[in-house]
Amino acid sequence: MTGLRNYVADLHIHIGRTKSGAAVKITAARTLTLEAIIDFAATKKGIDIVGVIDCHVPEILGQLREAIDNGEAYEDEEGGIRFPSVTLFLGTEIEINDENCQGPVHVLAFFPTLVKMEQFSEWLGKRMKNRTLSSQRIYEKAYIIQRKVRELSGLFIPAHAFTPFKSLYGKGVKLSLKEVFDPDLIDAVELGLSSDTEMADQLLELRHYPYLSNSDAHSLEKMAREYQVIQMKQPTFLEFVKALNQEEGRGIIANYGLNPKLGKYHRTICANCQLEVVANQPCSCGSEKKIKGVSERLKELSSEKGEIKARPPYIHQIPLEFIPKLGKKTLEKLRNRFGNDMNMIHSATEEELTETVSPEIAKAIIAARKGELMIQEGGGGRYGKIVNERL
Ligand SMILES: [Zn+2]
Ligand SMILES: [Zn+2]
Repeated sequence: MTGLRNYVADLHIHIGRTKSGAAVKITAARTLTLEAIIDFAATKKGIDIVGVIDCHVPEILGQLREAIDNGEAYEDEEGGIRFPSVTLFLGTEIEINDENCQGPVHVLAFFPTLVKMEQFSEWLGKRMKNRTLSSQRIYEKAYIIQRKVRELSGLFIPAHAFTPFKSLYGKGVKLSLKEVFDPDLIDAVELGLSSDTEMADQLLELRHYPYLSNSDAHSLEKMAREYQVIQMKQPTFLEFVKALNQEEGRGIIANYGLNPKLGKYHRTICANCQLEVVANQPCSCGSEKKIKGVSERLKELSSEKGEIKARPPYIHQIPLEFIPKLGKKTLEKLRNRFGNDMNMIHSATEEELTETVSPEIAKAIIAARKGELMIQEGGGGRYGKIVNERL
């Protein structure tokens, strides 16, 4: 089919503060405003579609309306808000904890239009203590939320599905997706920073769902540390729905994500002394409290072998902030030279890079692209790091 193009999409970006300075995601950076996200995505990161995940907040809805009224953006008739170089998808993250969840579970919902998001926000307001904040607990059964999302032509996606906190599979109990959700009303599954396609494919029950890889950014710089490339006709909501259903050549053609080893919850570590511990054994410090890593968790959950779905490649990438000695000033120089991070990470040659930065950093960027850097694995809430002594 002709007329298809590739779009870079990061669909899990939080908002730190509203225009009036009110906190939305309290733990997120104050500089993470709606305006800054739009600008940064286009000029620094090279992202085509941003999923802004706190659009249920009434003041944010108001800001978006204002942007449309001022002519800064328009709502596409196929859904999505089109700014000059970026499209915004209206998203929200909510915390569910009904009697089947066995602990809080985060999910994402996306809606095609402002009106639908406003309707959902009002519905949330009746089931939530404070809808001016991000990722709040909803007092409602999961399947009823799913039905509401579908009724409003939205998409329902379990978020960061394997992280040890607030996720579907991260808890210490063996839980199937069917026990918590209506499997027919799930549109995709978000992998999260400590897992990738190969790891998630150990769960056969996920075989029907597309995987999303998003940044869950709490600051501007963290945007696009994970994203996907989607092949479709236009950057619109309807086209995205068609891409998830793989209609007529559309689809996610690659997931780009952090090497899971760099994720904060890859290894299992002792909650007391922070050292790595072996599965089913107490730590040498005597403590039995552990923060279970995603890799161990997935092994426990993995089902019997069966046929797995053909999937787009999951490409491990190492965000520039992990490259040793690559500080703020150097990053600025690189952006001035190469336009945006996508160009540096994926296409600049070593010679081109060396014209702007030290040979050491240029080598490291190329080695990161080829998966040749040595990684000390993350765990227990601490990111992994690059440990090559020399390149
Ligand atoms: Zn979350
Ligand atoms: Zn989030």
